[in-house]
Amino acid sequence: MNVLVINAGSSSLKYQLFDMDTETVVAKGVCERIGIDGRLTHKPVSNGKPEFKAELPLPTHAEAINAVIEKLTSPEYGVISSLKEIGAVGHRVLHGGQKFSESVLINDTVIAAITECIPLGPLHNPANLMGIKACQKVMPGVPQVAVFDTAFHQTMPKHAYIYPIPYSYYEKYGLRRYGFHGTSHRYVSKIALEMLGIPAAGSRLITCHLGNGSSLAAVKDGKCVDTTMGLSPLEGLPMGTRSGSIDPTILSVMAANEGLTINQILDVLNKESGVLGVSGVSSDFRDIEQAAHEGNARAELALDIFDYDVKKYIGAYMAAMGGADAIVFTAGLGENGPETRERIVAGLEPLGICIDKEQNNVRGQQRDITGKGSKVKVFVIPTNEELVIARDTKEIVGK
Ligand code: ADP
Repeated sequence: MNVLVINAGSSSLKYQLFDMDTETVVAKGVCERIGIDGRLTHKPVSNGKPEFKAELPLPTHAEAINAVIEKLTSPEYGVISSLKEIGAVGHRVLHGGQKFSESVLINDTVIAAITECIPLGPLHNPANLMGIKACQKVMPGVPQVAVFDTAFHQTMPKHAYIYPIPYSYYEKYGLRRYGFHGTSHRYVSKIALEMLGIPAAGSRLITCHLGNGSSLAAVKDGKCVDTTMGLSPLEGLPMGTRSGSIDPTILSVMAANEGLTINQILDVLNKESGVLGVSGVSSDFRDIEQAAHEGNARAELALDIFDYDVKKYIGAYMAAMGGADAIVFTAGLGENGPETRERIVAGLEPLGICIDKEQNNVRGQQRDITGKGSKVKVFVIPTNEELVIARDTKEIVGK
């Protein structure tokens, strides 16, 4: 069965077509500038056909999906002969609120529930819905599945997800910690258990998804018991451009002194903060590391703040779970940043954690980087959120 995986943003739509018999990607690409002018990049992977890259009008997500189908089936750039060869579509959906603890087959009720979650994910859920509705229009009758970033974290106990604010806000508006990157934390924690050769029952993992957006999860007995992101992806660690957790009083001082509205302040905290805000250099850790090597003190400070925070959460989650069997590094920086990994675990020997410097010199590959005498295993595991979406979709549609 071929499964089309869609990750729809407000003006972009990324896709990967999987052959699920072999779990391989046969084509992938991205539509950009939807609703503006439009650009499609399409890469056939399986058959050596050329890449297609051109500007073309994409007024809505429906035209974008149409263009994707056209390329997937075209004699020149295609990998399948007709739409009939797409057995199902899997959609990444950001916010499933409290309604979804696992992936689901999309029907009208599910669409209504995702719509109800818009206040919790105002930037992403409307875009995800546009992707779903466009597929329904262009590919009627093809089953579609929603895979939620929040679902894996629904097993958190109440003491980990309730904010200490008046309880009525939770009851009235669902204000609680939800957590994100759930498909990634779920994927790498499963592989970590295989690498450890132990069952989920009794296991304790700390999964560190470190990319442009970053979050940690504490995974006990194979289930998430805590995570650093909250109601939105703004909470927790400092990130590329997001502040992570800060004292909310800062907002009132910013408003009073800069004359900013609450939305403008949230924009600053989402888009101008994090390692970009501190370093003034870039949101990309590669640029910041380079600047730090060249003696830029604020770039060094930005890295120090980030590493220190990840270290603190590792300690916190070890306390929360009474120890850890393994720490997992994943996502852009976690997979490709040996220096970051080294700085994060430096000084954790008293907690039984150290890495092997030679083994740690790895980028984008699964590897056990545990140091000699370390009680806690340390793994690098490349994440693959699209594969999780394709697997869930196949499983649900096959039921
Ligand atoms: P997103 O959260 O957008 O999915 P990714 O998981 O792709 O992001 O991570 C992107 C980030 O990973 C980049 O901004 C960069 O900081 C970091 N990164 C990627 N490759 C490297 C590398 N070789 N060395 C250091 N950092 C890297």
